[in-house]
Amino acid sequence: MTNQKPVRHLLGISGGKDSAALAIYMRDKVPEMEYFFADTGAELPETLAFVDLMEDYLGKKITRINAGRDFAYYLKLNSNFLPTARSRWCTTNLKLKPFEEFVGNDSVISYVAIRADEQYRTGYISTKPNITACYPFKEDGLNIDDVKNILDESGLGMPKYYEWRSRSGCYFCFYQRRIEWIGLSERHPDLFEKAKEFEAYHKNLGRNHSWTEGEYLEDMVLRKEEIKTQFELSQSKQKKPKNLMDIFSDDDSDDDNEGCLICFK
Ligand code: SF4
Repeated sequence: MTNQKPVRHLLGISGGKDSAALAIYMRDKVPEMEYFFADTGAELPETLAFVDLMEDYLGKKITRINAGRDFAYYLKLNSNFLPTARSRWCTTNLKLKPFEEFVGNDSVISYVAIRADEQYRTGYISTKPNITACYPFKEDGLNIDDVKNILDESGLGMPKYYEWRSRSGCYFCFYQRRIEWIGLSERHPDLFEKAKEFEAYHKNLGRNHSWTEGEYLEDMVLRKEEIKTQFELSQSKQKKPKNLMDIFSDDDSDDDNEGCLICFK
């Protein structure tokens, strides 16, 4: 007689609003759900605090998975080249591989927090044949407003970093816009300094690539007031004025990050 392992139901918490809302939405629908958080070791303190809060709310353990090595190790392994949108070795090493190790050879249904208003997105799941993706928000027609309502009604609200940044993920993530880098320099000057050190390390090896195309962080921060003014001007041109929390929590329109939904959703 074969003793087949039951299918595992997995939901990854990224620290972002959508996966948090999905976890709440699915909590009673799939009681055997396993929650996990792929910690890159370079997460924002706000993200880590939000994951702790989620764990309390769900009343269930959120398994922290990690690569066992930090970003600096993988930087050396990747010939000291900073990752970029085109060469996203960081996601592969710090998020995807730990996830696939966590799954192993088990048959898994992976719940993905892509919303109904994001039909064009598919998101990275895995090419492993034992992992099947499931999209409850898409299937049930839930959009951004529903996500916000779920978080509001739960009492959890939005993760705090939306006050100054549009995504979870590593503090040095190259998907950040300049205004978000300035936010990092003000909210977490120590992390901004570390991001600068990675850039300097890269530069000292004769490379000319920076986290943000065309500008080193040390120069960017000198233009802080100009960047803030430009951002405020661009927002004042919008039809409906919004507060910062609304601006950043609505801002997931960048479709150049398909492979990184695992980091941000
Ligand atoms: S959050 Fe950004 S830097 Fe971190 S693994 Fe994802 S893409 Fe890479």
